[in-house]
Amino acid sequence: MNTLANRRAFLRGKVLRQDRSAIRPPGADERGFYDLCEQCDHCVQACPEQIISFDTQGWPVVRFDTSPCTFCGACAQACPTGALNPETVADWPWRAVFASTCLSMNAVTCRVCQDACDAQAIRFTLQPGGRSEPALDPDTCTGCGACAGACPVGAIAFTRPTPSIPEVAE
Ligand code: SF4
Ligand code: SF4
Ligand code: SF4
Repeated sequence: MNTLANRRAFLRGKVLRQDRSAIRPPGADERGFYDLCEQCDHCVQACPEQIISFDTQGWPVVRFDTSPCTFCGACAQACPTGALNPETVADWPWRAVFASTCLSMNAVTCRVCQDACDAQAIRFTLQPGGRSEPALDPDTCTGCGACAGACPVGAIAFTRPTPSIPEVAE
């Protein structure tokens, strides 16, 4: 295989190993993250909330099960390779989304996520049959994850509005 073919194969491997649904730590620009991250554990160790762990492929991932992110930036500051950029910690693209398993959508009274949200980004709209539909104000939501960690049925996930990983050119 020539040098160009090797490079293409390498890039394909990188893309295949990327998981757009995984929440990388704040400051991760995925266009550079997968090239720069050395899968050390500096960010994992630095997080005072202990919400960074490794996924099955060895990349650091944020999970909100036990605590929200405070956007303190300690993870990015601890990163020795530049895979996490302290200057872009605030550019957090993730926003909460509600699944149909939400208790309130199924006529079981619940406002746990709303109570957990310091930003007051969640509102409920009454529906027929005793149901209530949660809705997010994406401009108010900080993506901190407090709601997801508090939800008793795990009905809150996170998404980002636009793709940030470029396709590999052939
Ligand atoms: S910004 Fe702070 S709280 Fe959030 S993942 Fe990084 S170290 Fe943890
Ligand atoms: S905490 Fe979970 S189950 Fe309760 S209203 Fe919010 S999304 Fe629905
Ligand atoms: S992610 Fe944070 S700011 Fe956004 S709705 Fe959930 S608790 Fe509120």
